[in-house]
Amino acid sequence: MLADTFGRVATDLRVSLTDRCNLRCSYCMPEEGLQWLAKPDLLTDDEIVRLVQIAVTRLGITEVRFTGGEPLLRPGLVGIVARCAALEPRPRMSLTTNGIALHRTAVALAREGLNRVNVSLDTLRPDVFKRLTRRDRHSEVLRGLQAARDAGLTPVKINAVLMRGLNDDEAPDLLAWAIRNDYELRFIEQMPLDAQHGWKREGMITAEEILNSLHAHFQLTPEGERERGSAPAERWIVDGGPHRVGVIASVTRPFCSACDRTRLTADGQIRSCLFATEETDLREALRSGAPDEEIAEAWQLAMWGKKAGAGIGDPDFEQPDRPMSAIGG
Ligand code: SAM
Ligand code: SF4
Repeated sequence: MLADTFGRVATDLRVSLTDRCNLRCSYCMPEEGLQWLAKPDLLTDDEIVRLVQIAVTRLGITEVRFTGGEPLLRPGLVGIVARCAALEPRPRMSLTTNGIALHRTAVALAREGLNRVNVSLDTLRPDVFKRLTRRDRHSEVLRGLQAARDAGLTPVKINAVLMRGLNDDEAPDLLAWAIRNDYELRFIEQMPLDAQHGWKREGMITAEEILNSLHAHFQLTPEGERERGSAPAERWIVDGGPHRVGVIASVTRPFCSACDRTRLTADGQIRSCLFATEETDLREALRSGAPDEEIAEAWQLAMWGKKAGAGIGDPDFEQPDRPMSAIGG
């Protein structure tokens, strides 16, 4: 098991497949991009599959989420999914993606065993998309979303971050559109994980603001604690159902006490939390020939030291050195 000193057990593994991206979302990275990891530093496909295998056979991992950077940029993605689907016990697998090029791979991903996708889309307006992501690729995301739904990668969830003065008026439109298209929308509070360190609490659109703007157009009924479990999103039933909307209030209502995640970066480091300031290097262990048992023990030790919470509100809060795109969101 991947337990920690606060009694939590991690069963959900986030695997970052690359730190690279084809968008430049302003809450994530600067316009010029970042210094990407060098190829030899990245885990190979074989190394990733071996670590997932150790996680599911020895450490109680039941859910695997592939992310990045942009995971669809990883050439071996479909093969990695296929090999992880063949593991015993078989983990449930999902993908967090910006959706670009998803129309080309959705069918293969579903065929090889991916269960579902989360697609990030912050706006319905192509001009706002271009300002926010610094790329003119809105229609490709919409096409990717449709392809995912048609391929059965359902429920297709949409992640939306609202930015003040840019798309903060779009919550009701996004929700009406998601309901029409049978996507499950979740809003995420903007977190201090941008590479530029430009996040300011005053600038963030809070869960409360989002809910207020939705309440003006929809009847929202809280879904309740039992259904939430360890999921970060608080969910509301919209207009009596069946559709739901989620809000991930990572900053104003953190869910750290129920967190069940462990993270593997594209260069083979274990992080016990998005906001961890320490990492445990499994790549070195892999490449020096360590047996599965030793790697599993190093992973357990890394998780044992997980802090109680992210501490964003603490006076001594320190933003981690790695930005979201390099950790794996
Ligand atoms: N490129 C993929 C994507 O955009 O879905 C996967 C990686 S991205 C880092 C994962 C999620 O993190 C996306 O939904 C994105 O909107 C979100 N994200 C990135 N930076 C964020 C920030 N500073 N605060 C909150 N969410 C953020
Ligand atoms: Fe790329 Fe995802 Fe970051 Fe946007 S949020 S720049 S799509 S990694």
